[in-house]
Amino acid sequence: MKGDSMTKPCPICDTEIDESKIMYTGDNTDFYPCPTCENFDIYRPYLEELPKEIKKYRGLKEKIQKAIKEHPTGGNRYFIDRTVVKKLLFEI
Ligand SMILES: [Zn+2]
Repeated sequence: MKGDSMTKPCPICDTEIDESKIMYTGDNTDFYPCPTCENFDIYRPYLEELPKEIKKYRGLKEKIQKAIKEHPTGGNRYFIDRTVVKKLLFEI
């Protein structure tokens, strides 16, 4: 039982994430700590679009997850917006 805690689906893999752990970091960006995809930042206006893109393009989900995992830690978190996803798409 999860009690009253609210969750939000990860825009990449649909895993339910505790809403209290998702943080607004400023500049229209949300921080998502996904147990499957690991930590990433996403541009808010792109949040609704991303799951649609993932449905549309086979392999995109894995590409994004790989990019997040390969992103060096210590600096800025991996940031996802339309430009980043388009770039990844061209590499599929
Ligand atoms: Zn995820």
